[in-house]
This record gives sequence, C-alpha cells and structure tokens, in this order.
Amino acid sequence: MARRGLAPFGAKGGAVTGAANPPASLGAAMPAAAAQAVDAASPAAGDAAGAAARPVVGAGLLGVLGGGQLGRMFVHAAQVHGFRVAVLEPDAASPAGAAADVHLRAAYTDAAALDELARTCAAVTTEFENVPAAALRTLAACCAVSPPADAVEVCQHRAREKAAFDAAGVPCAPHAPVVTAEDAAAPALAGLLPGILKTSSLGYDGKGQAPVSTTGEVAAAWAAMGGVPCVLERRLPLRHEISVIVARGRDGKVVHLPVQQNLHRQGILAVTQVPAPDVPAATAAQAVALAQRLAQALQYVGVLCVEFFVLDDGTLVANEMAPRPHNSGHYSIDACDVSQFDLQLRTLAGLPLVAPRLHSPAVMLNLLGDLWFTAGSDTPRTPDWPAVLALPGARLHLYGKAEARRGRKMGHLTVTAADAATARATALRAAVRLGLPAF
Ligand code: ADP
Ligand code: MG
Repeated sequence: MARRGLAPFGAKGGAVTGAANPPASLGAAMPAAAAQAVDAASPAAGDAAGAAARPVVGAGLLGVLGGGQLGRMFVHAAQVHGFRVAVLEPDAASPAGAAADVHLRAAYTDAAALDELARTCAAVTTEFENVPAAALRTLAACCAVSPPADAVEVCQHRAREKAAFDAAGVPCAPHAPVVTAEDAAAPALAGLLPGILKTSSLGYDGKGQAPVSTTGEVAAAWAAMGGVPCVLERRLPLRHEISVIVARGRDGKVVHLPVQQNLHRQGILAVTQVPAPDVPAATAAQAVALAQRLAQALQYVGVLCVEFFVLDDGTLVANEMAPRPHNSGHYSIDACDVSQFDLQLRTLAGLPLVAPRLHSPAVMLNLLGDLWFTAGSDTPRTPDWPAVLALPGARLHLYGKAEARRGRKMGHLTVTAADAATARATALRAAVRLGLPAF
C-alpha cells in the first residue's frame, strides 16, 4: 500500500465491508489544491510543515481502533465537526461501534480490515492502549496515525513506561523488574517493601496488582499471577492523586487541560474534581510541565494522560501514562470549551490546537455497574436518573452498554456550577441519590 497523508479526506474509494451501520458515501473528492495543503500536515512532511496545513473539516472518514466508551466519545466529537468515523472492533456490542458511521467487526490485527481502514480513512487513532502496535505500524505505512506506535508500546508496558519516565527526568516510584523466579526471590527486593507487585502489561483499574509486605509474599504473588513479567514498586504515602491531559500536535505544539484531582476506590477511578481542590498551584504547574516533557520526549502526537501521586511531603511522582483520552478527562466535555476528545480529533486531523479553557468548575462521578444492583444483593435495579437529572448542572453520560456488571464502567455524571463549592455540593447530593459514598 502506498503511503499517503491526510490529503484524501473523503476522496478514497472502496466500500467498507462488514459495516453494521448504513454504509456511508465516502463523499466528494477534495480539490487538488486543498489536498496538497492538507498533505503538508502528514508526519512525512515534517513538523515545520504542519503549521501551514489547511485540513478540511466536514469531509472524510476517520478510523478508530477499539470500540469502548472512549471511542464512542471520540466518535461524537468527530461527528460534531462533520467527520464520519469507522470503528474497528470485533465485538458486535460496542459503544463506539453503535455510534460510528461504520463498524468494522474484525480483529484489530485482521489484515483485510486494516487494509480497508488504510484505504478509506484519512487518519486513524486508537481508543485503548493495548491495541497491537503492529496494527498501528501497518496503518502508519499508508495513512496518518496517532498516537505513534512506539509511544503506545511504551505505555503498554510498566517497565518500559518507568524507563521512559527515567529517561525524561520525570520522578517515579522506586521499582524493580520481577521477570524470573530468581528475581521474585531476590533478597534485595526487601528494600521496596511494603510494595505493590504489578503485571507489566494488561493491568487496568487495579487488576493485575497485589499488595506485598514480605519477600515471601512477592514470590507467592508473582507465582499466583502466573509468573508473567511484573514490576515491584514501593508503596508510597499518597496525599492525593492527580492527572494531566496534554495534547501534542504534529507541529510539536502542546496544550493541556487543567490538572484533575482523582479519587480511586478499589483501584478504579471514582471521582474527579477540577480545579483540583487540594493541589497548590505550583504543584499543578509542575505536573503540567512534567507531562509536557514526557510528550516531547516520546515525540508524541495525540492526547496523552499522565497520572501522578502527590506524596505526603508534597512531592510529585509519576504513576502511569495512557496514550489516549482518559476517564479523568471526561469532565472536559461539559466543563471546557475544548474537550479531550476534541483535542484527540484536532491532533489526528491536523486541526489547530488552542489552549482549552475551563469555563465551569466540575465534579465527575464514575457510574459503575454496581449501581445497577440493589446494595448488598444481586437484585437488578435502574438507578434513579430523574432524581439525579433534577439537580442543576448535572449532565448524564451513559455508554450504551447492554449488560451491567460490578466494576464495569457504564457511564459518568458530570456536575458543573458557577463555583467549585456549588459543583461539589451538588455532586455530593447526586452521590446520595445514586447510593454512592461521599468524597
Ligand atoms: P491501573 O492501571 O490499575 O490504574 P495503577 O498503577 O494506576 O494501576 O494503580 C491503581 C491505583 O493503586 C492507583 O491509582 C493508586 O491509588 C494505587 N497505587 C498504585 N501504585 C501505588 C504505589 N506505588 N503506592 C501507593 N498506591 C499506589
Ligand atoms: Mg492508574
């Protein structure tokens, strides 16, 4: 397949097969002059050319690998801007696939499906970090792809991620790889205890982690995890958890959302507050600077979320990165003039990046599947949405998942208000009405 940049917005022929939704016409070809200008935004054209690009809005097909809620919210943002979106997701029950113009039901590595995306899409992104990097590389040979496969591969693997933190001069928790039985039994690990043993790959929402207090527990936990490559890191005294979302364009320009303060329950994000109520301005500024440094060091293009711990002594430690929009950035849809999904779209399509502005303080409550069961039982129920929507400033986002399961992200609620105290007070009332704990 020949390499091409963003030029053929809507210009490529070839019907997408396997489409669940009505097949979309691929639109009229762009005028040649515009096509040339847009082409300058392709990675092959180099960073300097990106600034002069004139991307075409309102035409063309964009691709997404992955069919979850992050893809769904990207689809919404792209469609608002007049784009059509094709989602590659094997699962028929797909939040993103249901919203997309085209749902390609095939494996992420399916050669024919990737070829279809490459031929029909002007640019392709991903909505989850465990997308096979090889799929991104295959696509990148033919069309614009962001984020870059190399950066995604770093974020897929905790040990590589920590190496990237070290290389960029970004502090992270003291840690050691645990890859072999010998590693797992090494007396030197005692220096990292009490700690948390984490699988190097495929962990999320606290899964693939075990708290460990003795060297014997490390060996036992590693064996219980099936002897897969792990990282042991020291348990740190956390005062707060925060995250920063940055977006970096092909021209190297970086913008960011305000720093988010996050509360996790059982390893899963529960509440995000913006502005971060307990974080000094200097700490927030430092977190932004570190996230920008990481984006630069990775030569990143797209939306990158960096999670940090604020320790008891006030110092900042990077925890992990996500090469995509992040749960902690969902508030930006309702509280910022440019959301994290708008940023993903802009970086993907070579559209201008402007600094997002928080126009309203916000509190986001994650809505997990537990809410669909009566407390302490398996009796299904429907949360009292009218009671929640009766609250001023409450905005409900449900992801269209047919089946509720405990711990499954079903949606989120964003509460905005004219001031932070009101947003928090209203969110606390919403929590009561939903049966969620206070924060
Ligand atoms: P996941 O990929 O599941 O989000 P994280 O590494 O972010 O994994 O860990 C989940 C949560 O566990 C964190 O948000 C934090 O609350 C807690 N945690 C993780 N690592 C540490 C650590 N080194 N010290 C203290 N708490 C930690
Ligand atoms: Mg995390």
